[in-house]
Amino acid sequence: MPRPFVIPFFISHQGCPHRCVFCNQHAITGQPAGPAVDADLIRAEILAHLHRPRRTSRQGVQVAFYGGSFTGLSEARQRELLGAVQPFLENGEVDQIRLSTRPDYIDPDITAFLKSHGVGIVELGVQSMDDAVLAASGRGHNGADSERAIKCLQDGGLEVGVQLMVGLPGDRSGLIFKGVERLASLRPDLARIYPAVVLKGSELENEYRSGDYRPLGLAKAVAISGRVKEILDANGVRVVRIGLQETDGLQADIVAGPYHPAFGELVLARNLYRKVMTALAGLKGSGRLELRVAAKDQSVLRGPGNVNLKRLAAKGLLAGVELVFEENRRRGTFALVTV
Ligand code: SF4
Repeated sequence: MPRPFVIPFFISHQGCPHRCVFCNQHAITGQPAGPAVDADLIRAEILAHLHRPRRTSRQGVQVAFYGGSFTGLSEARQRELLGAVQPFLENGEVDQIRLSTRPDYIDPDITAFLKSHGVGIVELGVQSMDDAVLAASGRGHNGADSERAIKCLQDGGLEVGVQLMVGLPGDRSGLIFKGVERLASLRPDLARIYPAVVLKGSELENEYRSGDYRPLGLAKAVAISGRVKEILDANGVRVVRIGLQETDGLQADIVAGPYHPAFGELVLARNLYRKVMTALAGLKGSGRLELRVAAKDQSVLRGPGNVNLKRLAAKGLLAGVELVFEENRRRGTFALVTV
């Protein structure tokens, strides 16, 4: 699916009276807290983005409000932010608005309000579907709230994104997979998967320093996120991001946890390795083979430090196999062809 050109605005922590244990919005968005984003800034930024030459071919233009609980803002503030985009929606220079919010800040009236202002996608901070994990994380909502919000947005004709976090306090892989199955059955349109990390200034930092919270190790976080992605893939939920968005100062704010600048690539490498390994094992002894992979997946197939190829070779699965990297192949797919 062609990706849209996104013009992002970060409304750090605005509209949110909560304090989730993992949250330090300033660190996550790389933006200072406060009402820096106003109608003038929105108009100026949109114009600047629209007139900047684009290096990649993208389809459609979206204005995104991230980093806060948009529908927790006062209605006047929501009208101010959405209103600034309306002229660009009306003249066709912007196709739609996307924003993020909490599941318990969505109801039919809010959904209708968003829809009437050109919002096309709402991303919900679901994080977990397990009520005990949500309570331990200070989220202030439960799994049923997320279910209700997803259905409400779908009924209102909006696309739904879900943001998930693995490794929250009290979480276990079994709970995560069960929750993701439940979530996937609701058919959200897209998902983001983040590993829980300990950010400076968050409640989790206190819990980590007192020994009450132990973050996942990197390998485990990659394995769990990989399985989560497999479940979402199998249910047709588009995974648009895996791992934290790199921002200025993010690394300096991380106290502990499974942070890696290429976390998403590690997860993709894990998943492709498992698929290729199973397919090669099934064809072992079939003579000469070509393993055809998308050219853009070359580093994913190889894995960090060529680990995937080394592991396949150690299992004797690469004997007689030629690697072919195809420009036109869809990422994440591969073919095994006898030659
Ligand atoms: S709801 Fe979102 S913005 Fe509010 S504290 Fe939690 S993570 Fe941070």
